[in-house]
Amino acid sequence: MNDAMIYPIVKFGNPVLEKPAEPVTAFDDGLKKLVDDMFESMYEAHGVGLAAPQIGISRRIAVIDITFKEDPSAKLVLINPEIIHSEGRHIQTEGCLSIPEFRENVARAMKVTVRAQDVEGRFFEKTGEELLARALQHETDHLNGKLYISRISALKRDLMKRKIRKLMKAGEW
Ligand SMILES: [Zn+2]
Repeated sequence: MNDAMIYPIVKFGNPVLEKPAEPVTAFDDGLKKLVDDMFESMYEAHGVGLAAPQIGISRRIAVIDITFKEDPSAKLVLINPEIIHSEGRHIQTEGCLSIPEFRENVARAMKVTVRAQDVEGRFFEKTGEELLARALQHETDHLNGKLYISRISALKRDLMKRKIRKLMKAGEW
């Protein structure tokens, strides 16, 4: 992918991150190119998941690779994903490329099944546990305009927002 376009990652504070993304209806070459660019942008940012709003594109597209290039078959493209089943509870530290340098414990379902479309528009279901389940939930949340900080305590969230505002004022965000 030598002609990949690397998109800069949009950070917390940009309204595109907090509004529901638009469904994808055209499964064309433009979509395939965008998905390839999203993988490259995600790897460039050292992430294991990326949703289109994080590159400023408000469309329901997410890419995941929890192996970070180790296993090409682990590359997952989710178009118009919906979580159709979830079970259990799992608390683990979570971060987000759009909220760099911060991490918090977030409670998520232990196991989820997502229904989504691939780049050709074909529907499929994918079930994941633990880290994959967490990524599926985190990225689907992004497409619904939801960030993980909305799933932590108000106290921790306010503290985090205060620190971010400071960084913004200092021009470091
Ligand atoms: Zn994120």
